[in-house]
Amino acid sequence: MVFAPMKKGLRVRRQDGRFKIRKDDQVVITTGKEKGKTGKVARVIPKTGKVLVEGLNIIKKHMRPSSQHRQGGIIDIEVPISISNVMLICGKCKGPVRIGRKSLEDGKKVRFCKKCGEVMDK
Ligand SMILES: [Zn+2]
Repeated sequence: MVFAPMKKGLRVRRQDGRFKIRKDDQVVITTGKEKGKTGKVARVIPKTGKVLVEGLNIIKKHMRPSSQHRQGGIIDIEVPISISNVMLICGKCKGPVRIGRKSLEDGKKVRFCKKCGEVMDK
């Protein structure tokens, strides 16, 4: 990979939706012990570049009895996954796909499946 020299004062604008993954997307995990598992994105955490996927990447944590958890014991905690470790699933292709971006005639930016061309945002 060749890096172009940085121009002074030139900044990449952080625009809304710079992540290809959004809340309520269906994603598949591409690496780690949960590889191949699919789930729905419960939350995107832009600050860390991670997503929380419902029911996936769960760790068990032992809790001592407290005012909030009177019983104590073991609770399940969903751990956020790096966005680079998940892929969006295309509802039409029924599998993980690469996502492209394009602007519609009205200027609205949408994501689309690079495989079948299906627009992801409606
Ligand atoms: Zn597709």
